[in-house]
Amino acid sequence: MSTITSNLQAAQQQIADAAHTAQRPPSQIQLLAVSKTFDAHAVLDAAQAGQRAFGENYLQEAIDKIALTLQLAPDLGLEWHFIGPIQSNKTRQIAQHFAWVHAVDRLKIAERLSEQRPAGFPPLNICLQINISGEASKSGATPDQALDLAQQIARLPHLRLRGLMAIPEPLPTLELQRAPYRQMKLLQDQLNEHGLQLDTLSMGMSADLAAAILEGSTIVRIGSAIFGNRNYAK
Ligand SMILES: *Cc1c(COP(=O)(O)O)cnc(C)c1O
Repeated sequence: MSTITSNLQAAQQQIADAAHTAQRPPSQIQLLAVSKTFDAHAVLDAAQAGQRAFGENYLQEAIDKIALTLQLAPDLGLEWHFIGPIQSNKTRQIAQHFAWVHAVDRLKIAERLSEQRPAGFPPLNICLQINISGEASKSGATPDQALDLAQQIARLPHLRLRGLMAIPEPLPTLELQRAPYRQMKLLQDQLNEHGLQLDTLSMGMSADLAAAILEGSTIVRIGSAIFGNRNYAK
């Protein structure tokens, strides 16, 4: 068995264990394999083990990888999620190559993604990124901005606003990690009480997926626990 296959199985087991503790069906939680900095062969290795959804942060790297996996294995039906920060001059390529975008945090970016989604494609699935820990250095809308922004994005024709995404500050214990994720769940509930139909919470990474699942995560974004440590210098 390859390392990636056994890591994937271990990640799925961690998800199942956390779901069990949370008394949630494991099928409610999707594993997004974050393949940034790893090559197309690593993706195909994970795909061989049944993984279908992959997350990428760096646009050019992602586009090359998507093209190569399509060339090597055209029938896999992989689903690509853009999870990195978005510059407005990159929206056209993001709208062309991805099924999901997780880190939308302003209306202008959402408007461009909607306008630039190619005709005939299904709506682009969107998560609104929330700066839940209130860190000055982090992107994301503030919780106060979320309702207005979500209502405006939900009206755009070629997008489907699915939910909220967060990257809280790293915290050392399960209990501390749960607090920001609990706020995310409350925010989702509030928005839905205002008529939005958000079914997604994109939250939890290798180091804190149990906390995120206990608080209602529906997509955990796992990179290093599956593919190993990233080498950015390569
Ligand atoms: C890199 C990245 C991940 C994966 O992080 P790991 O710690 O490797 O699991 C998840 N989400 C986002 C937004 C990322 O950039």
